[in-house]
Amino acid sequence: MDRPIGLDCFIYLRKSRKDIEEERKALNEGGSYDTLERHRRQLLELAKKEHHNILEIFEEVVSGEHIIDRPEIQRMLRKVEANAVDAVLVMDLDRLGRGDMFDMGYIFRTLQYSETIIVTPTEIINPLAEGAELLFGVKSIISREELKAITKRMQRGRRVSAQEGKSVTRKPPFGYIRDENLKLHPDPETSWVVKKIFEMIADGHGRSSVIHELRKLGIKSPDKAREWNAVQIRNMLNNEVYLGHIVWGKMKWVKRSGKYISKALPSDQWIRRDNAHEPIISQELWERAHASYGKKTPKTRKKSKLVNPLAGLLYCRYCGYAIVYSSDKKGCDMYKCKSSHCKGKQRSALVSLVEQRVLKSLEQIVSEFEANEEHQIKQPSTIPMKKKALTTKNSELVVLNKQKDNLHDLLEQGIYDVTTFKERQKIVVDKIKTVQLEIDELKQEIEYEQEKEKKQVKFIPKIKTVIEAYHFTDDVRKKNQLLKSVLKKILYERKPKTKRDGFALEIFPHI
Ligand SMILES: [Zn+2]
Repeated sequence: MDRPIGLDCFIYLRKSRKDIEEERKALNEGGSYDTLERHRRQLLELAKKEHHNILEIFEEVVSGEHIIDRPEIQRMLRKVEANAVDAVLVMDLDRLGRGDMFDMGYIFRTLQYSETIIVTPTEIINPLAEGAELLFGVKSIISREELKAITKRMQRGRRVSAQEGKSVTRKPPFGYIRDENLKLHPDPETSWVVKKIFEMIADGHGRSSVIHELRKLGIKSPDKAREWNAVQIRNMLNNEVYLGHIVWGKMKWVKRSGKYISKALPSDQWIRRDNAHEPIISQELWERAHASYGKKTPKTRKKSKLVNPLAGLLYCRYCGYAIVYSSDKKGCDMYKCKSSHCKGKQRSALVSLVEQRVLKSLEQIVSEFEANEEHQIKQPSTIPMKKKALTTKNSELVVLNKQKDNLHDLLEQGIYDVTTFKERQKIVVDKIKTVQLEIDELKQEIEYEQEKEKKQVKFIPKIKTVIEAYHFTDDVRKKNQLLKSVLKKILYERKPKTKRDGFALEIFPHI
């Protein structure tokens, strides 16, 4: 099996009863050593070899077999439960505490739910892997029924905590900090982001424009590994935790043919505790966001004949709703915003005029681009500059990694004690993470710009083809498709008391 590298780790150290006997024997024979010292050195060496980041070392001074007698493992498991690390480094599985079936079941489930693996000098144990229960000795010691009972008891524990208004999710929800008692408090650094997301949606923005804004502001996604995405935004919008409520047990984990799958439970089985903590958003904002969300893009109805060439493209500049195609009293085809917000603010306009204007705008894009080409007024590319920055950051990273290795040497040579080592390591690891983040961002920007430049080359000929094809066909559905192939959306605005063609359009091409 390939051993993973570069994980965020805890080290857990504990003497077994056998270790204590051995130490005593050695002492009687004239030699002496400290098992924990020896294990610590071995695990640090392993961490160095496999480039792991050690976030904390938990050293059990007492040598109780049961979790209840071992404060350090309790402290560590609480952090593991909060998803603090990728892995726990131990000499062997027994150090965590084999022997007590309840303890082992608890440790196993904690690691499993937080997807934390165990790394030993000889083994990698993934609690999510098939057969892992067997490795933990859970199955062999306890019967299936007992294991079920333990899981149930833990589940019940979580339900009780939820009832008490405690947050029992794997990670605290984005925007909140969780304290020792599992209570939530708005995080001054991120709670405003939650509010902003709700406000943007309430103001009629779609999820993609929210994501765009978050990226522009450089706000990191709560999911370390991925960029902001539409599913996260939807989940946030539907999470009542932001109103101050705790809701638990919407899902149930069920094992099906060796894999855990989640099953949705009916709402009368959910655990609720209203007003459990300080809300980030008001009920009023929640309702506004929910009223606006989902109404954004009315689907083009498949059954009725599509007669609107701008279906799915034309939106109101003021309220963000889709502009509706309808006939007025005289039987003229009109574009109109039917939202009550826009009554008296937005006038309707003739479909044919709006359609003509859209085509004219496309022609304008082409001619402007070609004029620029002739006069060579191109935007200078920032790609070379960004590539240079990337090279610099990469060499910075090499230097930092070397520094990290050196720290291990200083520890081995006894120049640093564990506390100093940990402090220094944290500084270096933080720097590494920042540089890595900057590298990722640069890479993304370069990719984005390359894509944009490539598109520009292809885009202008494409618009030309669309304009030509548009005049060639009478099929409105096809016309709609042609426009959608080059345009993302069009914003419409016509103030009262303006001429027939006194409307303004803002065109958003796919570029
Ligand atoms: Zn409107």
